[in-house]
Amino acid sequence: MATFKGVRIFGKAVISMQGKQISKVVVVGGGTAGWMAAALLSRVAGHGLEIELVESEEIGTVGVGEATIPQIRFICDALQIPEAEFLSRINGTYKVGIEFVNWARIGDRYIHTFGDVGRRLGVLDFHQVWLRARELGIDRDIAEFSFGALAARDNKFDHVDQIGNTGLLGLGYAFHFDATLVAKLLREISEARGVKRTEGKIRDVHLDSESGFIESVELESGDKVAGDLFVDCSGFRSLLLGDALGVDYIDWSDMLPANSAIAVQCEGVDPLLPYTRATAHSAGWQWRIPLQNRIGNGHVFSNQYMSDDEAQNILMSNLDGKPVTEPRVLRFTTGKREKFWHKNCVGLGLAIGFMEPLESTSIHLVQSGIGRLIDLFPTSEFTAVDIDEYNRRTHFEFDSIRDFLILHYNATERDDSDFWNYCRTMKIPDTLQHKMDLWGAHGRFYRNEDELFTHASWIQVFIGQRIIPGDCHGIAKVLGKDDVDDYLKQVNSMLQQTVDKMPAHRDFIDKTCAMRAMD
Ligand SMILES: Cc1cc2nc3c(=O)[nH]c(=O)nc-3n(C[C@H](O)[C@H](O)[C@H](O)COP(=O)(O)OP(=O)(O)OC[C@H]3O[C@@H](n4cnc5c(N)ncnc54)[C@H](O)[C@@H]3O)c2cc1C
Repeated sequence: MATFKGVRIFGKAVISMQGKQISKVVVVGGGTAGWMAAALLSRVAGHGLEIELVESEEIGTVGVGEATIPQIRFICDALQIPEAEFLSRINGTYKVGIEFVNWARIGDRYIHTFGDVGRRLGVLDFHQVWLRARELGIDRDIAEFSFGALAARDNKFDHVDQIGNTGLLGLGYAFHFDATLVAKLLREISEARGVKRTEGKIRDVHLDSESGFIESVELESGDKVAGDLFVDCSGFRSLLLGDALGVDYIDWSDMLPANSAIAVQCEGVDPLLPYTRATAHSAGWQWRIPLQNRIGNGHVFSNQYMSDDEAQNILMSNLDGKPVTEPRVLRFTTGKREKFWHKNCVGLGLAIGFMEPLESTSIHLVQSGIGRLIDLFPTSEFTAVDIDEYNRRTHFEFDSIRDFLILHYNATERDDSDFWNYCRTMKIPDTLQHKMDLWGAHGRFYRNEDELFTHASWIQVFIGQRIIPGDCHGIAKVLGKDDVDDYLKQVNSMLQQTVDKMPAHRDFIDKTCAMRAMD
């Protein structure tokens, strides 16, 4: 799976249901989070665990969330759906990365791909060779040494695990898909595995008067749904964890200031790009997510710096095709809950936090939360040390993603609006400052093995945001101009030759996973 760190979810393990067992799980909410939880829990627990999902069609789902990162591919393995079948059901396309336009300066353009960049030279990371080349006057775009970036530039896609015996890794990729179709497919899979769906609006949550544990949720019809473990997937409402159990929200608006989005779909256009585009505007940025037959678009912005009308005008005048839906405004507060698991309730999805969609990390957080829940699946004793571990790991994951997102906003030279002046000068976490200092001096980078984003991801974004180290690694200094020049040419040519042989993204889709007629 390219250079992204995998998330342990499946295996053949079945949750043990002996002794002080949890016999019923109630999932509240039927968006991507709820149905993903139901599908994966029913897969690992077999029929030993009763699962009931409550959702309200009247309330509906958030209806966005269409770009992913490579870990999404584990879903296909876990649910035993071939990738081509999965994509054909959900209007899916391939994504090799995100193109960032106008971020460090207006007119800039770079791509953060999921794969590796270049090839190590002895003890030196590739970027050290690239830095040495710059020092020697060889100025080549780092994207020329990224398989994903070259494929993206030519709108090509193929499954390539590795490039012959060159030591170069293959193409890292994720998916774009229709969020509504994904929830529908996950529901179908869950129901086939015995998950019970209950339609209804929850009007109350009943707690045990002594333990404070959730006993049941009560619907407007008066019916009660009881369970041992509750999974809160109720979206921004956070009905259980937030409202009923009173777990506070940690607000990150001072570091991630966007608080609004306007979403609209438009007709598809050719060529079919194999990547998401994120174009910065004066108070935020615009996403462009190409599906097989349409494009998802949205303008993420801060309404402290721009009105909804202005944001909508900017969005509508920057669409590549004719709009096919009415624009929709969504509000959010960036941040996370103080706990993600409290008493007998685990929250997933928007119910536990949202850091904005810049690096498409929310669905991944759902997936990794489910993986962690499966790893730490409780008995009816709900052991504190396990719950603490769940919370500790989830906090770490949120915080490390937060730092990566902040980098995009803070590392800018833009001074053309109050929004960018704020982002450029805002206080950032010490953890991020340390990474930036270390990188800025000699291009050093270290990451904790539990961090989501890889070395290659950080390096592409540092360079794309124009943070170029002041000097290179001491050992790179021994490289002469001809050596460096030859090495770079060799790496670029091995990658480009492979890209030249690959089919166009559209042709690959048409051949392997064209959308099936919808029922
Ligand atoms: C603007 C924006 C863009 C995004 N883009 C991306 C992206 O590109 N990639 C990505 O990974 N993520 C993205 N996300 C996040 C992604 O959309 C969510 O993580 C994902 O859709 C999961 O949402 P959810 O299931 O938690 O919530 P929802 O989809 O809101 O589902 C909540 C569910 O709870 C139910 N519910 C609520 N209240 C009640 C009640 N009282 N009674 C009964 N049922 C109730 C609702 O009916 C619904 O079924 C984006 C989010 C936003 C806001």
